[in-house]
This record gives sequence, structure tokens and C-alpha cells, in this order.
Amino acid sequence: MSELNLVLLGPPGSGKGTQGERLQEDFDLPYHATGNILRRAVEEGTDLGKTAKEYMDNGDLVPDDVIIGVIAEELEKPEAEDGFILDGFPRTTPQAEALDEELQKVGRGLTAAILIDVPDAEVERRLGGRRTCVANGHVFHIEFNPPQEEGKCDVDGSELIVREDDRPEVIRRRLQTYYEKTEPLVSYYEERGLLRRVDGTKSPDQVGDQIRALLSTLRMEEDI
Ligand SMILES: [Zn+2]
Repeated sequence: MSELNLVLLGPPGSGKGTQGERLQEDFDLPYHATGNILRRAVEEGTDLGKTAKEYMDNGDLVPDDVIIGVIAEELEKPEAEDGFILDGFPRTTPQAEALDEELQKVGRGLTAAILIDVPDAEVERRLGGRRTCVANGHVFHIEFNPPQEEGKCDVDGSELIVREDDRPEVIRRRLQTYYEKTEPLVSYYEERGLLRRVDGTKSPDQVGDQIRALLSTLRMEEDI
């Protein structure tokens, strides 16, 4: 069977994490969200993990060459033999180029970059409607999962608040950062014929179905 080497792209609130986990189950591929991959390298105490930890302990961003090194090590592991799913990396064009180089070194390449498309208004609706309980972090949504009593957690009765990250102006800033960094990345993959778009406004099940359908099309094209 051919490899499935996938990159997931999409704005905050697009459900990338959910889809990544589904793909991991459906295709038995390792799923790497950038945060987790660095955390694991730190826990395992690899050389790169130690380097990454120094940056993190100082509150600095981990440089690209360290992240790409950690990812390259993960992709060499036997469990990534049939493919992998990356989420949150690459985030910029230089990172995408570095990833391509690493893959070329081992005679591999990306199968597809899947963009989960969600318009800004929908992102604002999804993230802006979230309410989090101050006591235990239980999450509700004023539209999709409202609490029994407004402003009160169903589980423990404590107050529900809008987290800093879910405030409208913060959401808009996060979206702006996303577009500045990721739009060039979308063009990068488009130029290489690797970009595949799915409609992220649908339900998680429907989005999952779209992704599975496009992956089987890709595999059929490869087999011809
Ligand atoms: Zn609660």
C-alpha cells in the first residue's frame, strides 16, 4: 500500500485536531500535533529534546531547525513507515521547504496538504460562543451545547466565563496571524499540486467523509 504523508491546514476552530485523531484511527497512522511532538522529545530526553527544553524553559520559541529535527526523527520511526499526519507544522513557507528537504533525503514526499476551509464568520461563531467554567474548565457553547442555566456550569454550578483566547478581538488577532503565515503556505502547496480543500463548515462526520473520499481518490490516481 502506498504511503499517506499528510499535512493538515486550517484556521483555529476548524476542527483539525478532531480530524487528525480520526485519520489516526482510520488509517493507523501516527498523528503529530506540534505541541505534543516537542513535549514527547523533551520527555524522552533526546538531544534535540534537551535543546528544545532550554528554549521552552526560557519562554522562547523553539527555532525551526530544532522542530524539523524532532519531526525528522519521528518520521524515521517504524510506526511512520506507512505515513503520518502533521498538524501545526509546517506553519510557514520556510518550514514547508525544510520539511520537503527532509522527506526528499529519505526518498519520500508529501501525499497531500489538506486545508479545512472555514470562513471567518464561522470561526468567530464557533470560538466566540464558547463558555468555560472557572472551577474545572468544563466547556459549553451558547449555541451548540448550552448549559441548563445561563452562565452556570451544569456539572459543578460554578460561573461560566469567556476565556481570553475566545474574546472577539483575540479571535480576530489569531485569525490575522493565521492568514499572514498560512496563506503563503496554501499557495506553496497549490503550486506543487498538493493542496486539497474540504468544506469545514459541515459536521465533523461529514468533514471526515470528505477527507476519506479525497484520500481514496488520491490512491486510485496513484495506482493507475
Ligand atoms: Zn464546571
